[in-house]
Amino acid sequence: MSPKYIYFFGNGSAEGSADMKHLLGGKGANLAEMTNLGIPVPPGFTITTEVCDAYYKKNQQYPEGLAEEIERNLSQLEKLMGAKLGDAENPLLVSVRSGAAASMPGMMDTVLNLGLNPDAIKGLMKKTGNERFAWDAYRRFITMFGDVVMGVERHHFEEILDKYKKKTRVKSDTELTAEQLKNIVEEFKVIYKKKTRESFPHDPKVQLQKAINAVFASWNNPRAIKYRQLYDIKGLLGTAVNVQAMVFGNMGNDSATGVCFTRNPSTGENKFYGEFLINAQGEDVVAGIRTPEPIADLEKEMPDAYSQLVKYKNILENHFKDVQDIEFTIQESRLFMLQTRTGKRTARAAVKLAVDMAREGLIDKKTAISRIDPGQLDQLLHPTFDPKAKREIVAVGLPASPGAATGRVVFCAEDAERLAEKNEKVILVRKETSPEDIGGMHASQGILTTRGGMTSHAAVVARGMGKCCVAGCGSLNVDYKNQNFKVNGRVIKKGEYISLDGSSGEVMLGQVSTIEPKLSGDFATLMEWADEYRKLKIRTNADTPEDARKARELGAEGIGLCRTEHMFFGENRIDSVRQMILSAPDVKNLKAKISFLEKELAKAANDKADVLKKELMLVKKELKEPLVSYSSALKNLLPMQRRDFEQIFKAMDGLPVTIRLLDPPLHEFLPQEEYNQKEIAKKMKLSLKEIQEKVSALHELNPMLGHRGCRLGVTYPEIYDMQVQAIIEAACNMKKKGITVYPEIMLPIISTEQEFSVLKDNVHKIAKDVMQKKNMQIEYMVGTMIELPRAALIADKIAKHAEFFSFGTNDLTQMTFGFSRDDVGSFVPEYLEKGILEKDPFQVLDQEGTGQLVEIGIHKGRSIRSNLKVGICGEHGGNPQTISFCHKIGMNYVSCSPFRVPIARLAAAQASLQQPVSRATV
Ligand code: PEP
Ligand code: MG
Repeated sequence: MSPKYIYFFGNGSAEGSADMKHLLGGKGANLAEMTNLGIPVPPGFTITTEVCDAYYKKNQQYPEGLAEEIERNLSQLEKLMGAKLGDAENPLLVSVRSGAAASMPGMMDTVLNLGLNPDAIKGLMKKTGNERFAWDAYRRFITMFGDVVMGVERHHFEEILDKYKKKTRVKSDTELTAEQLKNIVEEFKVIYKKKTRESFPHDPKVQLQKAINAVFASWNNPRAIKYRQLYDIKGLLGTAVNVQAMVFGNMGNDSATGVCFTRNPSTGENKFYGEFLINAQGEDVVAGIRTPEPIADLEKEMPDAYSQLVKYKNILENHFKDVQDIEFTIQESRLFMLQTRTGKRTARAAVKLAVDMAREGLIDKKTAISRIDPGQLDQLLHPTFDPKAKREIVAVGLPASPGAATGRVVFCAEDAERLAEKNEKVILVRKETSPEDIGGMHASQGILTTRGGMTSHAAVVARGMGKCCVAGCGSLNVDYKNQNFKVNGRVIKKGEYISLDGSSGEVMLGQVSTIEPKLSGDFATLMEWADEYRKLKIRTNADTPEDARKARELGAEGIGLCRTEHMFFGENRIDSVRQMILSAPDVKNLKAKISFLEKELAKAANDKADVLKKELMLVKKELKEPLVSYSSALKNLLPMQRRDFEQIFKAMDGLPVTIRLLDPPLHEFLPQEEYNQKEIAKKMKLSLKEIQEKVSALHELNPMLGHRGCRLGVTYPEIYDMQVQAIIEAACNMKKKGITVYPEIMLPIISTEQEFSVLKDNVHKIAKDVMQKKNMQIEYMVGTMIELPRAALIADKIAKHAEFFSFGTNDLTQMTFGFSRDDVGSFVPEYLEKGILEKDPFQVLDQEGTGQLVEIGIHKGRSIRSNLKVGICGEHGGNPQTISFCHKIGMNYVSCSPFRVPIARLAAAQASLQQPVSRATV
């Protein structure tokens, strides 16, 4: 039996269903489902995504038998409708629409009113008795067909239309008469021929075939490709093509077309939401060309159609158990549903919808948790405008997508992308946006449009992206030519700062200050639900008490990484740090010299001994100065570090705090500019030359592989001693004040068992001294970071000494790939573009390679210490995909930056719902 390429729907039954999205695309599958539910859907048929796949694989040739299948389905449709394509008595008109399994709003092509030709127009006039409508449909068809199928730019047609409107002094298309539209159609055909060098096709079957080709071709148009990249849409066969009988919202004042959502997709409020236009076709609503009316007004205008619409939207939401984004058309008071799909929503709405629906009993808690994309929560963790800040409001538009955005005004997508690349914050200001603007919208902080409503392209795309958007701000007069906009007598030029409040629709001058977000209401509820299901603990990477407090507020259950070096950069500390670093090598060399001379002296004969003694004295004298400098620098740093640790312990009262001893190569702290070098020379009473010599002596060719991490602890033990002393003293001081402390001292860049065991012994020695002096006992642990492949491979040996492991996957990725983490910008983007890498391995853990090392490390570590506590503290700890992997391989916790804590809580819950038992649970 030959494969089935087409699925028919109509007359209350369909061959497809909602679970066939992969094959029929979202639109086709749901049209079939709606038909089966008894909802009025114009009949039609769906050509499968497999045909699209075959079309691309076979050099744009269709599979055998497809033409006959199209013919058969078309006859079935004609029979059902009692109308024929191109018929002079009763013509059938169809729409040809794209629709892939993943929704890509506006990115692919659509042709409406297909089937019109000189015969069919007569038939359409007879059938409808509406001459004006028929010519209007024809001119729209030529425009769409010319643009979508033949690449004749729309503006050629729009210019002719504008010419007629000017000539007849009318403002709106709807005011043009039948006669004028007829003339317009003739002019459209002329321009079509001029641009394509062929006549506009009259044969409806030729029209249909060409339109089907164009829709399949649009799967790979640049904006669709970009959209798939942006949203990481992969693994689809292509688009399906839906050929469906046309219904008309532009047949007069008893006709309308609209877009609606079963609940508010911006706020999540359970209120019917949407808009419509009387006497218009669907494209007018989505393109934002005319500003539509709110859906509630439809009740007054067409009460019967409205009550039917409410009935069907309720059926659909109950059936799909999620917010539906619906397109409908009312033709001469009769309602038709043209599309339903899961509504794209802002993060705020997503959270409210999930919590509300679970409370209503429509879904369960687990579904509520699983339904939210953890990455999307990022939007809720961004600052909002400070209510106390002064706002100079110049205009108010529609609050199309929430958020607080500030940036420089730009008027085109290219400028937005160009400036964003230079790290400039921009606001894209357009009359309306179109699918071509997608890259620029993505690059902007916010989008401001003068036309269009809550369901215009700008609004829908911005909500999907989580971008702030103010739409339909009609009081703005945008002048693309002069690159400015005028509002209330003011002129705002390109490059000037404005701020947008996507929740109120306010447009403000200048940069309005913002405040930190809070975790409360539905967001907090959802987090509590997530906590019921997750197995992973969530810690944070925090180096300051403020970060620690913030992270705890957001749900952190401890600190997984406190990078002590960040504390060294404070204004009053860096001098002491520099003093310590600059004197350290001298101390080390001179000490080595002394120990050598002492050994020589012990075995020397009398005459040589005198010389050695003299030399020893001189070296000891020489040591005095740097030693004083070194010791005093360490002494200065000790109380500062202790204070930091005390505050962090306090913020994390009762929770574990992992503190990593100094990690980066020392030269990172040194002044590289001559002017700074002069300053430090003066402070240390050395010459500029001496400082420069020391700086250059510390220079390394490959610092990431050089004198860093525990290697510093081995060669400059006093630095680690000072840090351990500060940690344990801080712990004692806080414990005395009733704070419960769990310090975990962590050694970085360990590659051998001996490194760890030597340094660990030293940590215990210092800790013991401090505790003895303070006459107190502190429960603390000493563990290691696993950042080097060698450490992962000998993890069983390290685990003999280490009480915990924390995978430093930033370095582990760097060392596994051999990609410098500071230089990947020069080639990783191209690797991603060419598909050599699927994901940036510094953002999403490479499970195949680096992940294998992590698994080996855990397995070997726990083979020696079965209850070994294991976590991750590289940047990957906040990445949902990596979190799922960490759950699967049995880690105890992930640690991420404070603002990713809620994301990690949700991702951990989702991982555990997907995989209740992890592989190596301890
Ligand atoms: C790591 O390497 O993953 C890590 C957390 O340490 P850092 O980023 O400070 O090198
Ligand atoms: Mg590291």
